[in-house]
Order: sequence, then structure tokens, then C-alpha cells
Amino acid sequence: MRAHIVTLGCKVNQYESAAMAESLEKLGYELGSKEDLDLIVLNTCAVTSKAGSKALQILRRLRRENPRAKIVSIGCLAQAEPDELIKYSDLVLGNFQKDTLASKLLSPNGTIDISVPKVPIALSSGTPKTYRTRAFHRIQDGCTQRCAFCIIPSLRGAEKSLAPDRVIADLKAYRDKGIKEIVLTGIHLGRWGWDHDPKGDLTKLLELIDKSLKPNESSFRVRLSSLELKEAQLILDSFNKYPWLARQLHIPLQSGSDKILKLMHRPYTSSLYLETVSSFRKKYKYMSLGTDVMVGFPGEKEEDFVSSLEFVKKSPINHLHIFPFSARYGTSAFNYPGKVPAKEIRKRAGAFKAVDSEKRLKFYTANLGRKELALVENSPEPKTLRQRVITGNYIQALLPEGSNEPSGELIKVKLIGIASYVEKDGQGFEKKDSHLQDTQESQPEAYFVEAKRC
Ligand code: SF4
Repeated sequence: MRAHIVTLGCKVNQYESAAMAESLEKLGYELGSKEDLDLIVLNTCAVTSKAGSKALQILRRLRRENPRAKIVSIGCLAQAEPDELIKYSDLVLGNFQKDTLASKLLSPNGTIDISVPKVPIALSSGTPKTYRTRAFHRIQDGCTQRCAFCIIPSLRGAEKSLAPDRVIADLKAYRDKGIKEIVLTGIHLGRWGWDHDPKGDLTKLLELIDKSLKPNESSFRVRLSSLELKEAQLILDSFNKYPWLARQLHIPLQSGSDKILKLMHRPYTSSLYLETVSSFRKKYKYMSLGTDVMVGFPGEKEEDFVSSLEFVKKSPINHLHIFPFSARYGTSAFNYPGKVPAKEIRKRAGAFKAVDSEKRLKFYTANLGRKELALVENSPEPKTLRQRVITGNYIQALLPEGSNEPSGELIKVKLIGIASYVEKDGQGFEKKDSHLQDTQESQPEAYFVEAKRC
């Protein structure tokens, strides 16, 4: 029997798909081929309306191309819009049914089960096989912060965290499998341990990892996925204390305008945000500080947008993820007045994109000449087809043409330059000679940091 899992959305979804893949293998399914499938599982995302329509589009295509296969739609969009998904699926299951997918497959076609357990169930753990060089490991799920634009709390429920000894056991298992980098992830990662008695937090977990695994940074490192501001503040000193902790943080800002932050129900002001990220930049000069910014939130006037843009420009953030606002049914912002026209949202997103490019280039340039421990990825960079590595401070760098470093290994590299590639009439990309001089002349298609082993 052949099965295939299509995964959309966040790192938590990636982890859950890996775990579901393992449960299907135990049932005797073969995974890996997309031909002649008996079972397809679509693990959906609903964070934006764009994510939702993309999932539906993929589902319709899967149905069309695989008339014989049993199709299971599962996860966040299944939880939010079951009646729409059942039109193209045999089964629709929610987030709380992922751990029992194997038994749910016996349900009659047409079944919708998005039930939420009355009594919170413990978060399952395990170290499912991953096809990546870095393992995404879910240690937390759920969120009750209820930001005005966010649908996630109603789809994933209240916070729940993996028990500390389970986290340690899983990290040991990954290490024993030869995995050199673990990305700890969650829906609200910074609230890991909040549901434990006694209450835990990330600082305690990092201390426990250090004591229990005694990681040596050249053979094993831990990376943290997105952290909310207040929880990030708690780990300011941790990156000096634990050399095995990758120097990268992603702290969502959403808006640099205090008026909009208040409307979003975000629990901080722009000045507290600036103070916090500046304290990280001051302490860790080359740390990667990324953020999420939303444009076009209802009520965002031109002056609010400008103050948000100016705020981000002057902040020590070095890369942005830009999200056009999309109204999600079931969120408080869904009925907010002051909708921003789509054309205006696109214009504002474009302005942030330009700032993002500038900041990324400035950060890359500041890192030239430095040495970093880098993880060798197992697939070449798609545009240039060159072997690539990921540094501790989250720079994706290209190794010299023809490199053949062992994938999944941590190697020392020196960041030696920035190469720009331009698209060659639809036939892939070719390297441009020298980058910096012609930035004014013609905007390069894509640029990459170059590295060599040292
Ligand atoms: S912190 Fe806010 S944005 Fe993040 S998952 Fe919770 S409600 Fe959503």
C-alpha cells in the first residue's frame, strides 16, 4: 500500500506529519512515491486566508489526479472549514485526531471528526524519521494569547507542553541518530512549561538540556523557533551561557505603531520591543534577529504604516517575514472597521520588502570574513545548484562549485563573499561577476553569501 503526506504550514505541522508518516509505516504503508497512491494525507494550515485557499487548491488537484486514493484532510483548515474540505476528501480530521490517524482510517468515508477532547490530553512525543538535516521537534502546542488577527487559539486549543524528561529523552534519541541540529518548536514556544506543576519556562529547560546532554557545540546544537517578546527577554544571557544554542531569534513584532499593537491585543509597546531587541544586538553583534510584520491591519492609516516602516528601519532587526492582513472568521479583527484596500496592502508590503532586502544585505556584508559553524544541507540550493550550509546565525551560504561535504555534518566555514545570480532567459540562473559595484545599476535576481570550509 502506498501513502503520501502533503504538509502545509509551520514547523509544528512538519513535526506532526513526520509522526503521522511513522504511524502509517507501522500500518504497512510505503511512503516516498507519489505514483499509484492508496492513501493521501493533506496536513493543512489556516493561519491566513491565502494559506487556506492554497490548501483547497492542492486538495482539488490531489482529488483530480488521484481518483482511486483515499484522501484525508487533517489539521488547522480541517478544524476551521470541515464542510468545505469534505467535498474533496474521504475523511476530515482535526488537530486532536493526528495522534490517532491510524485508527481513524477505519472510519467510513464521509466522516468528519474535529472533536476537541474535554480533558486536555498530554502532548505526544517521539523522534520520527526526518528527511531533513535539521529535526523540527515539537515540545509545545496551543495558545491562549488571542491576538486579534489570529485564528490559531481556536484551532489548537490551550497550551500544553512536553514533560522535561521527555524533551531530554527525545533530544538524546535524535543525537544518537546522528542528527546534529534540533529546532525546538511550538505554537507558542515561549510558554513551554506553563501548564506544568510546578510551572516551568524555557530558561529552566535550557539549563536541564545543558546539564543532561552536556552538548558540545561542534557536534550538536539546538535552535529555537519563534518566541514572543516577553518570553525572549528571559533568555538574554542564555546564548553566552550555552555555546550549543544557535545564535538566532525570531521575535514577531507585527507592527511598529503603538496604536495598531493595541488594536491587535499585542502585549507590548514598540519602545519595549526596541529596548529588547537592542539589548540582544548589543550583547550578540552577529546574532540573527528576525521578525514578522503585518501590513494592512484594519484601522492602519497611512501615518500608522509609515511609523511602523520607520520603526523597523531603525531597529537592529536583520530580516523580516511580511504578512498582508487577512480577515479570519472567528477572530476579533474579523469585524473591525477601517478595512485597508488590497491595492494599498500590496503597496505597503512592497515597501517592507525593500527594507527587508536592504537589511539582509547589510547583515550578510557585516558577516563577511567571519568564521561560523555550519550545518551541511542535504539538498543543493535550487537556483544555483551549489551545495549549501546553514550557519549558527542562520545565514544560508553556498560552498564552492563542486563541493561535496558530508550532509548533516557541522563544519567550520569562513564567509568569503556575496555572489549575485541572475535568471538567464528562463534557463536557470547564472553567476554575475562582481556584486557590489552594480547594485545601483541593475537589481540582481538573487544574491547569496559564499563560504569555504576552513
Ligand atoms: S501568540 Fe498570538 S499570533 Fe501567536 S499563536 Fe498565539 S494568538 Fe496566534
